[in-house]
Amino acid sequence: MQIVAGVHQIKLPFPQDIPGHTNVYVVEGSKGNILIDSGWDSSEVLWAFREGLKEDFLKFQDINWIVITHIHADHYGLASKLKELCQAEVVMHRIEAGLITSRYRDFDGLLGELREELSSHGVPQDELTELNEASLWINQFVSPDLPDIMLDDGDIISNGSFEFDVIRTPGHSPGHICLYEARKRWLFCGDHVLFETTPHVGFHPQSGDNPLQDYINSLEMLDRYKSNFIFPGHGPVFNSLKLRAGEIIQHHEQRKRAIMEILNDGLKSAYQVATEIPWKAETGGTAFGDLSPWDRRLAILETIAHLKLLASEGKVGKIDQNGISLYLSKA
Ligand SMILES: [Zn+2]
Ligand SMILES: [Zn+2]
Repeated sequence: MQIVAGVHQIKLPFPQDIPGHTNVYVVEGSKGNILIDSGWDSSEVLWAFREGLKEDFLKFQDINWIVITHIHADHYGLASKLKELCQAEVVMHRIEAGLITSRYRDFDGLLGELREELSSHGVPQDELTELNEASLWINQFVSPDLPDIMLDDGDIISNGSFEFDVIRTPGHSPGHICLYEARKRWLFCGDHVLFETTPHVGFHPQSGDNPLQDYINSLEMLDRYKSNFIFPGHGPVFNSLKLRAGEIIQHHEQRKRAIMEILNDGLKSAYQVATEIPWKAETGGTAFGDLSPWDRRLAILETIAHLKLLASEGKVGKIDQNGISLYLSKA
């Protein structure tokens, strides 16, 4: 569907009946067309992409560059196959490219580090393997090839008709980029800002030390890029970046306050804190124990990210006891 002149949006399904879509965008230009993001690597997604192109009278060969906002499976999984079919070049930030091999190819080391992290944050031994391996199913939906072109902060991508500033927005992923077209005031923002849900920001072996601080800095920094249309990786296109960014920052402030309260009655591990937070508030709230193993892991990693931010702000302290990190309120 052409949503504004020169920009086509194609919605690609999630695999295994998981609800949700990835929005990918084709931006037409006099010197070639840019595809922003791919989708999961599955035959259904490839078919949906073909149908979406056809609906807008485009062909695979019309795509010249595939720019990936970040390497999560729902944005990058299909990039290699599309590269072959379109005879296009895959483009992404250098930092993101540097994570591909350890995440999707030789992932034993990363799995070991994550297991260590989950264990040291209090995940009980009988849940450890289930949570540690909760994301392995994703690998079948990713073809983990390295990009043809690596981007650096401040690069510019032009297709003859539109010119995009490459803005690195670490937080959701360390090498996540947004693309900004200054004349049109368009912002293609991947998973950095979503209208209906709060993007996941978790602490893990590839996230950097304080991903939530990085994320909030990235959100605040975007304020200087005045935008009339924000094209996200999921959910509706919207036009109020400042408002939405404010709501997301507010959400994290509330979560931090809730964690401070949870820490008021004793020293707790991140796992213990996570079990006391009501999750999925947008859909009425779900107790930690009722979440899937995958969601429980995300919940723990998000909790650690909040605790790391609170620690950097001097509001909580951390001690190590028998190999487990325990947090206490300093308020
Ligand atoms: Zn993502
Ligand atoms: Zn996503």
